[in-house]
Order: sequence, then C-alpha cells, then structure tokens
Amino acid sequence: MRKIIFVTGNPHKIIEARGILSPLGIEIVQNNCGYPELQEDGLEAIANFGAKWAANKLNCEVMVDDSGIFIEELGGFPGPYSAYVAKTLGNERLLKLMEGISSRNASLKCVIGYCRPGEEPGVFSGEVKGNIAKTIRGNLGFGYDPIFEVNGTTFGEMVDEQKNRISHRYRALVKFAGWLSFSNHF
Ligand code: IMP
Repeated sequence: MRKIIFVTGNPHKIIEARGILSPLGIEIVQNNCGYPELQEDGLEAIANFGAKWAANKLNCEVMVDDSGIFIEELGGFPGPYSAYVAKTLGNERLLKLMEGISSRNASLKCVIGYCRPGEEPGVFSGEVKGNIAKTIRGNLGFGYDPIFEVNGTTFGEMVDEQKNRISHRYRALVKFAGWLSFSNHF
C-alpha cells in the first residue's frame, strides 16, 4: 500500500478518506500537528499554504483537507469561514438565518492539498451541489452534514458508504488519487 500522512485533527475526515482511498491502494496515516489556517477567500489558498507548511515542518510528503459550505443566496457565505461560523453560530442558528429564504441552493466543497518538502503543492478540489434543509436531520457524519441535503436526504442521514459515493471529499480524493497514479508520485 502507498502510505500518505494526512495532517488533520478531524477523525471524521480520516475515516472518510480511508473509506475512499484504501480501495485505491492508498493507506492514510493521521498526523495531528496542525498548521496555520490562513484567513483567505478561497479554500485552495488555505490548502495550498497548509500542505506546504506541514510538509516542510514534518519533512515528509503530506496531504491536508480544507472544506466549507457555500450558500448561494448568502453570496457563498460562510465558504472559507465555515469552521468559524460552525463554532460561533452552529447549525441551528444558521437555519434561523435562512428562515423565510426560499432559494436554499448550497454546495459543499473540499480541497485536498498535497506537498513534498521543498516542493510546490498541488491542490485537488471537489464539489457537491445540494440545498440547506429546513430542519436539522440525522445524526451521522459531522459539521454541516445534518443540514445539507442531496435529493431529499441529508448527509447526516447517510451512512459513510452513501456519503462517500457522492461527496465533495470523494470527488477531490479521487482526483488526487488519479494524479498520484498518473504522475510519478505513486
Ligand atoms: P475545515 O475543513 O476543517 O476547516 O472545515 C470547515 C467547516 O466545515 C467545519 O465546521 C467542518 O465541520 C465543516 N465540514 C468539513 N467537511 C465537512 C463535511 O464533509 N460535511 C459537513 N461539514 C463539513
């Protein structure tokens, strides 16, 4: 198996990445060292910086994951500020903010950053379109999963195998795995 260090403190991201990458011959090893999260307008810049920083700190190749939810009617808010909004507002109050708004299109985006020490990073992004549910539903998954709906089912109501077939993270990780095997990085 090809081993890659995944720098994240989020155990859910590790479980999902393992479910998606292990059938593709990639073994994920978690590292919790963290990295400075830039306050940037795009997930790509955050993942890019984080991957480069962590690769140089640990002196080995690493991957990182920066994700967020983008609500169309709110101009893409909270987007790259999703972690902050989850902490300060939370799903319940976000739904309150959306009360009376009928257009509830939203997307979840994931950007995987990959870097080797002393080199420039690569970024791989994935997106899934859906909508913001009217109520919190389901206790599976994490973060915005219980309020993010695809075809009438929230990610919070989906077991990992279901979420992993369609998710933003799945799409980003499959691009990343494809690049690894077609470049000389495998
Ligand atoms: P970060 O990528 O860890 O910075 O995540 C930003 C915010 O989005 C956090 O509040 C996460 O809980 C949330 N988040 C990240 N990935 C997902 C996901 O797959 N589903 C729902 N929420 C997510």
